[in-house]
Order: sequence, then C-alpha cells, then structure tokens
Amino acid sequence: MPIYEYCCPDCGGKFDLLRRLSQVDEVALCPVCNREARRLISSFASFARDAGGVSTSIGGGSSCATCSSSSCATCG
Ligand SMILES: [Zn+2]
Repeated sequence: MPIYEYCCPDCGGKFDLLRRLSQVDEVALCPVCNREARRLISSFASFARDAGGVSTSIGGGSSCATCSSSSCATCG
C-alpha cells in the first residue's frame, strides 16, 4: 500500500496514511483536531499528464493538493 501525506488546513499539521488506491479520495481526518485534511501532492502524483517539466517544481511531497502552496494553512 502506498503512503499518502496529508496536511490539515486547520492546524497546518502534516501526517502520513497508508491507504489503498481505492481509498485515495476518501476523507482523512487530522489526528490532532479531527478536521478534514487535504492530501498533498506525492512524488508519483497525477501531475505527469499536465506538463513535461513543470511538475518538477511541485514535486517533493510538500505541496498542498488544493492550493499548490507549501503552506496549506491558508487554503481552507
Ligand atoms: Zn489539524
């Protein structure tokens, strides 16, 4: 099972979850404040289809899946 990284828009905390591919789009709750967290872009994310070289600036697993910012605390 792949590991997915999530960030909480409420407290800004990040955590990892082991999930099946079928669970990827399910809601993940922040272990700290129990709020719905957003999945971060992982190194094998679906950005590959968008552009050839642009994805390299987003890679590294530190970007918020929603706002593409490294500080997802502002994307709620
Ligand atoms: Zn939180």
